[in-house]
Amino acid sequence: MLCLTLATRNAHKTREFAEILGPEFFVGDLSSIPDFPMVQEIGRTFEENACLKAHAASERVTGLVVADDSGLEVDALEGRPGIYSARFAGEDATDRDNVAKLLSELAVIGCANEARRARFRCAVALARDGEILSRFEGAAEGVIDTAPRGRTGFGYDPVFVPDGFSETFAQLGSAIKNRRSHRAAAIAQLRHYLLERDVNLRQP
Ligand code: IMP
Repeated sequence: MLCLTLATRNAHKTREFAEILGPEFFVGDLSSIPDFPMVQEIGRTFEENACLKAHAASERVTGLVVADDSGLEVDALEGRPGIYSARFAGEDATDRDNVAKLLSELAVIGCANEARRARFRCAVALARDGEILSRFEGAAEGVIDTAPRGRTGFGYDPVFVPDGFSETFAQLGSAIKNRRSHRAAAIAQLRHYLLERDVNLRQP
């Protein structure tokens, strides 16, 4: 079994990684290291932020460390909220605040369907002993709906309609989302990379 530590304390994210990586992997996280300092996400891109988190955690944790960073890019807003997705409506913004700000900005512009085009992006970085071994990226294309629909998921899921569907991610549920999401695409590449190099990466 390949063991990874995910640089997060978010149990939901750890479970999602474990489900997508499958039974050949054991995925731990930082919840057992309560004094691990929060890494400042000061990168200019998703990739830079993922690398900052993976690098910092791999200096404290033995073995393979994985970190991710993700967010939503909306064409009509010239790529915003991007790396600021979690705090689009302010430092302490809730998911509901962020969605409300997104919908009101799009309403002000009064943009037509094509300009509501958007994508979730996810960058994943793999590190060991303070060294970045590789990076992976995934995207999920879609459009932003005019009002929230659905109850599952988090963040912008209630307003994001992925290409090929008429429901939002929040209506489609985790089984479909785990196959179609930006994170699923990036994690699938990570999985492929790790399985190809399995022998070299196993702990002695
Ligand atoms: P994180 O880097 O995965 O913590 O994501 C940062 C922010 O991007 C989240 O707080 C959400 O607002 C947004 N986001 C990232 N991935 C998703 C997703 O799969 N669904 C909805 N929102 C997401």
